[in-house]
Amino acid sequence: MFNPRSLLSNLRRKAISPASITPTVANTAKANTPQRQPKPLTPLQQQILVRIEDCYQQAEIYFKRTFARPQTQFTLRGRSAGTAHLQQNRLRFNPVLLRENSEAFLAEVVPHEISHLLCFQLFGKTKPHGREWQSIMLKLFKVSPNTTHSFDTQSVKGKDFEYRCACGPVRLSIRRHNKVLRGETRYLCKRCHTHLTFTQAAE
Ligand SMILES: [Zn+2]
Ligand SMILES: [Zn+2]
Repeated sequence: MFNPRSLLSNLRRKAISPASITPTVANTAKANTPQRQPKPLTPLQQQILVRIEDCYQQAEIYFKRTFARPQTQFTLRGRSAGTAHLQQNRLRFNPVLLRENSEAFLAEVVPHEISHLLCFQLFGKTKPHGREWQSIMLKLFKVSPNTTHSFDTQSVKGKDFEYRCACGPVRLSIRRHNKVLRGETRYLCKRCHTHLTFTQAAE
């Protein structure tokens, strides 16, 4: 029972400025920026939704009760494979790591994150990988309750971009670099009060 509508919502993370850098131009363009359309699901992402539904049916038989299905998004970035938002009953998966580790996602990551949601609905607040969570992993999903994944995360390492102020080189994330490219903001060094200017992409 998957609901493609639930994938529509688009998360926006708040920008956090490092102490030494401040954006100098308020970003007023954002309100007028058209909402990014969600990408259609890849076959692998659809497979994940099917796997989620299977896990829930298994859980309902095991616990003899129903569970509301979570909203599922493939919008997670960085080095985490997945996250479970307990209060919102929402799952987020990392699309890059999914492509590179599809077997592990189906076998482990999906049950791992679903166990967090089930645990919350069954027991309320508990330790994130505590007894209750571990027993759901073991007894319901028969998956060993590992808390970390040994994925190669080389491909999701954030690329930095080298900028320069009067003090020397400064690194900016690709997000900030893109903001500068779009003319949404400029960054000012708090120490020397000069604007950062782009020099080169850095590894
Ligand atoms: Zn976890
Ligand atoms: Zn400076």
